[in-house]
Amino acid sequence: MSVATESGKFAAPRVRQTKILIGDDWRPAVSGKTFPTYNPATEELICEVAEGDKEDVDLAVHAARSAFESGPWSRMDARDRGRLLYKLADLMEKNLEELAALETLDNGKPIGDARAADLPLAIDSLRYYAGWADKIHGSTIPVRGDYFCYTRREPIGVCGQIIPWNFPILMVAWKWGPALATGNTIVMKPAEQTPLTCLRLGELALEAGFPPGVINIVPGYGPTAGASLVKHHLVDKIAFTGSTETGQRIMADAAMTLKRTTFELGGKSPNIVFADADLEAAVAGAEFGLFFNQGQCCCAGSRVFVEDAVHQEFVDRMVGRASQRVLGNPFDSETTQGPQVDKEQFDKIMGYIQSGKSEGATCATGGNRYGNRGFFVQPTVFTDVKDEMKIAKEEIFGPVMSILKFSDMHEVIKRANNSTFGLAAAVWTKDVTKAHAVSHGLRAGTVWVNCYDVFDAAAPFGGYKMSGIGRECGEAGLANYTELKTVTMSMG
Ligand code: NAP
Ligand code: MG
Repeated sequence: MSVATESGKFAAPRVRQTKILIGDDWRPAVSGKTFPTYNPATEELICEVAEGDKEDVDLAVHAARSAFESGPWSRMDARDRGRLLYKLADLMEKNLEELAALETLDNGKPIGDARAADLPLAIDSLRYYAGWADKIHGSTIPVRGDYFCYTRREPIGVCGQIIPWNFPILMVAWKWGPALATGNTIVMKPAEQTPLTCLRLGELALEAGFPPGVINIVPGYGPTAGASLVKHHLVDKIAFTGSTETGQRIMADAAMTLKRTTFELGGKSPNIVFADADLEAAVAGAEFGLFFNQGQCCCAGSRVFVEDAVHQEFVDRMVGRASQRVLGNPFDSETTQGPQVDKEQFDKIMGYIQSGKSEGATCATGGNRYGNRGFFVQPTVFTDVKDEMKIAKEEIFGPVMSILKFSDMHEVIKRANNSTFGLAAAVWTKDVTKAHAVSHGLRAGTVWVNCYDVFDAAAPFGGYKMSGIGRECGEAGLANYTELKTVTMSMG
């Protein structure tokens, strides 16, 4: 295990695009300002990116507005919208290696994950929604009297989309696919830490043939560019993925113009292991469920409840697996864990580790920084965790697992649900009845049984409680992007 720290060892891809996309024009910020984006594995500057703000957002919104109301997009047949999405997916496939490398450079995730998970899931998602474009139907309704009544599913209009840094390409796909299949136009603000792949996808979208103004991209900061998008009176909808705290801020800001809003927010997902489970599979699933993507997953299985009869064995095996994770250069295909995305996240995680120790949990492995360059955190497992500890309640968003002990199904359902979050959950058991009983009892948008983090473009994903509003993926994801119109016509 070694961190490759010499900058020369990283096979960095070429950065092609760092400007703001408005219409089909790549331009610098009106203010002329730029902001830096860093390689989290080396802490080195990658490049400067145009820093969009209110004026740039305003120009982008106007471009999106006119593409929505006039021009080729507003007249395009649904099936042709679908064809453009297929074309974009094809171009992503063609440029998969470059996109994966750029994602790894800006985000720090292992190149193997970017290649095998982020890119294929994103491409699949675009193709899935491409197929929906010409299958969005209204219905005819048998109303009283001599009237012909039917409904139409119409696009909402200009959609502001604000995404986080943990899965930049995948978040672009999850947001663009349903919005474009249903005929909306977009102004996207990528996360300040990871703007590069989104900008490259903007280039590919133009190459695919999306008309100018359909997709606009304004990199910049949340409180400036992001907030301007949320408050803009010509934006009809905001789709947001990120922290619950920022989600609350956005919901309040969007209230002024009564925008449609959908949110995919944080979590503290319970992963419940019964004594009758296939223990090796459960340990492997729990490791993947928490440590995948450096623990930077909204659905990370960060509260691992283990039935007392197998608790010690589970802990021993998990500690063994966690300490065998391979940290290092994310461009090395052997690496299974890269750095956290930035210093802020690194410091926040180290703070939680400190809090776990001082609140009396046992740090069974990890607990420290890894190496001395790059934002690497050792895979960390806490045992003897109590429900009321901070590490059991708050989203850590890092490679820190909390293992809790339980002895009864009803008890564990109650404790699992005792959270302000409700994004995902998992249950490990060979007892089918118990699997369904627990799945039904959990207040979470997704429950995995004997698996974890199984995503599919067709399967809805989203949160209960403070984990979100609305669903992404699947047919349910389309509802976020359409208005329902009722047309009633006299037949008399
Ligand atoms: P964040 O603040 O929620 O950022 C997500 C996106 O929202 C970014 O594009 C951000 O811009 C933007 N934003 C921030 N403030 C805004 C505002 N007032 N109006 C409009 N947009 C705004 O998340 P973060 O600060 O990067 O991370 C903080 C914590 O959030 C993490 O520690 C983690 O717990 C959680 N998180 C959750 C998810 C998830 O998928 N559920 C993803 C990322 C982070 P900037 O890039 O400028 O901040
Ligand atoms: Mg960065």
